[in-house]
This record gives sequence, structure tokens and C-alpha cells, in this order.
Amino acid sequence: MAGSGDMNAFFHFHGDLTNLLRRRWRGATPIIQPVTRSASIKDVIESFGVPHTEVGEILCDGMPVQFSRLVAAGRRFDILPIPVPREVTQPTLLHPHPLQGLGFVVDINAGRLARYLRMAGFDTLYDSTWDDAKILQVLQLEPRILLTRSLDLLKRKEVVYGRYIRAESPVAQMREVFDVFGVTELLRAFSRCLQCNTVLEPVPKQDILPRLEPLTIRHVDAFSICSRCDKIYWEGSHVARMQRMLEGH
Ligand SMILES: [Zn+2]
Repeated sequence: MAGSGDMNAFFHFHGDLTNLLRRRWRGATPIIQPVTRSASIKDVIESFGVPHTEVGEILCDGMPVQFSRLVAAGRRFDILPIPVPREVTQPTLLHPHPLQGLGFVVDINAGRLARYLRMAGFDTLYDSTWDDAKILQVLQLEPRILLTRSLDLLKRKEVVYGRYIRAESPVAQMREVFDVFGVTELLRAFSRCLQCNTVLEPVPKQDILPRLEPLTIRHVDAFSICSRCDKIYWEGSHVARMQRMLEGH
């Protein structure tokens, strides 16, 4: 058709966003698409397979634009990944409402990651009975970062902050989260209950003596307790092991 080239828009995906494209679009740089309907750049990006949560910046003919920008023929769009380490407490054009700090929701596909994050002291909501609908409901009540292996869940509009977890093993997933969010030190390791996420409280050794093993009584002096599920914690070898994992050994 004569002049059909004028109807196209051009989409350049950068960095590891190219790995998230649907198979048929991988290796196509740029992706050239006719503009046949009124659609936001957000919808078009997701139609290629990339969740909006993975996008750090969108340029239209070199100028930063928001997710709501309508795609028009003749335009070039550059879609860039989120820079690492990711800063969620500062507003950006695409994320104008920053978070107070690092707080997570983890879905069923990454349950062991949730336990590691709690071990490291991060506020991490996780419940093995939660389905996608429940997770979206939780996010609406309280903005948090969704960590998941589901690209479809990240495309839901209720999800503002999220991360598609690339790594497969729980330890590698934890390393990935720490790398992405710039966690270099475990300042609050073992400050949260691994079962229920409650912040632990110190408890005098004297009060819990009957519940401790003789070896623990001999070698450990500082204990904490979960006021919700009554589980007792103390710093053991796991803290040193996690610190070593953080440092890449
Ligand atoms: Zn607890």
C-alpha cells in the first residue's frame, strides 16, 4: 500500500528488557508497528511482553514521556530498563509516588525468597494461601514492591512497583534482589519473625530458660521473641552465612 510506511511507529527496547519481549519480537530492533488504534505507550509496551514495572524511562523522539503518552505514527520510542541500584524512595516521571522504603510482597512462586528477605530483616508480606487477586488487594491497601516470577501479574494496573525475578534458585533470587535494590549490608538481620514478619522483641534469657537446649544456654546470651507466634530467635551461624552470600562468596 502506497505511503503505509508513514503509519508506523518504532520501538527500541534497551538492555535486558529485550529478554522479556515475546519470542516473536526478540531480535527485532527496532520493532516496527503500524498505528491502527489509539493506545498508550504503556499498553503497547506490555503487548510486546514487557511489564510496565520493568521500565525505567520512556523517550519519544528523545524526550521523556509518561506511561499515558499515546502512540502516534512516525514516532520513535526508546524503552529503557530501571537503573541499578534501584531507588524507590525518589519520585521519577514514571513513578511519581515514591515508597517510604523497601517493603515487599512475594507471591507463591518465590516463597523461599520471602523467608530469606525476612531473615535479612526486610518487611516482607507472604502467605502461601494468597492468590493473584489477594496480592493485588494487599498492594492497593499498602504500596509495596511485588517480587514475582509471573510476567502477567506484573502487568496488572494495581502493581506500581514490582520486579520480575530472573534467578531461579532462592539464594540467587536473594542476591538478585539485593543487587537490584543496592543492599550491601545486613543492618537488621534477624529482626523479623520468619513465620509471620512481625518485628522481634528482645527477651531476657532468664524468662525462656526452660525452652532452651543446654548447648544454647551455654553459648548464647541475647534472644528475641515474636509476640505473635511466640517463636524464639537468636543470632546464629546463618547471619554470617548470609553476609558471606551478600559479599559474593
Ligand atoms: Zn511470628
